Amino acid sequence: MSNGTRIDPEEREPRAIKIRQPKHTGRKIVFSVLAVLSAVLVIGAGVFAYINFGDYFEFDKFGKTSEESSSPESEPEIPEESFEPEIPEESEPEHIVPEEPAEPEVPEEPVEPEKPEIPKDEWFMLLVNKENPLSEDFSIEAVTIDAKGHTVDARIAEDLSAMISAGEAEGLDFVIQTAFRTYAKQKEFFEAGTTDAAPGTSEHNSGLAIDIGCANGNFEGSPEETWLLEHAHEYGFILRYPADKTDITGFEHEPWHFRYVGKEQAVLIKESGLCLEEYLLQE
Ligand SMILES: [Zn+2]
Repeated sequence: MSNGTRIDPEEREPRAIKIRQPKHTGRKIVFSVLAVLSAVLVIGAGVFAYINFGDYFEFDKFGKTSEESSSPESEPEIPEESFEPEIPEESEPEHIVPEEPAEPEVPEEPVEPEKPEIPKDEWFMLLVNKENPLSEDFSIEAVTIDAKGHTVDARIAEDLSAMISAGEAEGLDFVIQTAFRTYAKQKEFFEAGTTDAAPGTSEHNSGLAIDIGCANGNFEGSPEETWLLEHAHEYGFILRYPADKTDITGFEHEPWHFRYVGKEQAVLIKESGLCLEEYLLQE
């Protein structure tokens, strides 16, 4: 071993290190710069992507998808209790109050109930008086209603019989005084002075009217009159010549004279308080 060739490894090594160190340092700087640039690029790309395509992924501020944010878990932020105070209990009676005045308005609507149409052209509504006389050739199908041979229009016989039977069932005793009288018979009586009703002007000429008496004395004030005033309309008959309608009917009050108009119309006429002339003049 010679001293000349002896090389102190500790001296040579540092030399080599000192030479190499700049190289290593330079590489580290380059790598560091590259790493920083790469990081900047990655971050920049991420920011760019977030800005430009963030909506596509539907991320909201809280990092949740819109489906997650709309989930029921997020609703408790608006508690339901907060809505109740907004509807105070006092508001309920306020809603009822305006409805109450509306109810009384309802009955005002049916103020004008539809009146049933008056069957003015029906045979049972035939108007016969001094202004509306029947013609000489007027005729009916007459049927006999009692042992005395009184006749009426066949179409009223059933209701007339039912009315008389109903009264007799309550102990009343009706007597038919006058029923159908032909035009010719009316003419005979008129010319003889027995009646002041010209031929065709008496309702008895129509076969739709009867004069009813009672077996025991005066008809006026009798139980038979009282019963007929209460029940005649139930069988289709009306008191034809009321005391308060003489100016319109042209006849004095005849408490015994009843006229058939059919059950339905008899009820309506009785309720109206009108005589037949007034009733038929209605629209
Ligand atoms: Zn009569």
